[in-house]
Amino acid sequence: MKQSKSICVYCSSSDSIDPAFTDQAVLLGAALAGKGFSLVYGGGMHGLMGSLAASVQENGGRVIGVIPEALVPHAFSQADELIVTKDMRKRKASMENRADAFIALAGGFGTLEELLEIITLKQLQFHQKAVVIVNTLGFYDHLLNQFEHLYESHFVNPAYKQLYHVVENAIQAVEFIEGYVPAKLPSKY
Ligand code: AMP
Repeated sequence: MKQSKSICVYCSSSDSIDPAFTDQAVLLGAALAGKGFSLVYGGGMHGLMGSLAASVQENGGRVIGVIPEALVPHAFSQADELIVTKDMRKRKASMENRADAFIALAGGFGTLEELLEIITLKQLQFHQKAVVIVNTLGFYDHLLNQFEHLYESHFVNPAYKQLYHVVENAIQAVEFIEGYVPAKLPSKY
């Protein structure tokens, strides 16, 4: 039997953000579960992380949380599987290895760091998995403008625009992953 896909989602741990972001997390949880995809994520109970995980389970899906020892008190204890790692770096590696694709919802430093690392690893051809940015309410416009600046000023080859895909909402993110075929990209060196 073919194993169902696991999708890693990076997203905010803040409980103080506009509810429009929470709506997308809930929608994404339902869409992942509806397709039979498992969720792999940072294992937290706060913010979009908690809303996403709860939505996956409410819709009959499976939640795998990967959390460092130090953050276990903030874990989503109802996760179907909770993997505890020594530190944040080991946690990111575990999430990366388990996932077939990556989605970034809105988030802070933690989310940005995870997103940029997974793009960098793809640029260096350590993986070829889909990376999707959900640009809710134009949240990522500033970062995407910075990316444009990188291409225009030759810090990054414009061919690498294909490393990631930008969508407006969670449903489009799941659709993109379903139809994803890795592009042939130039080697960095
Ligand atoms: P931030 O975007 O700064 O809110 O951080 C959220 C991202 O960093 C998530 O994708 C998580 O993987 C990780 N993270 C931050 N805080 C926590 C936490 N309390 N528990 C688990 N993961 C966290």
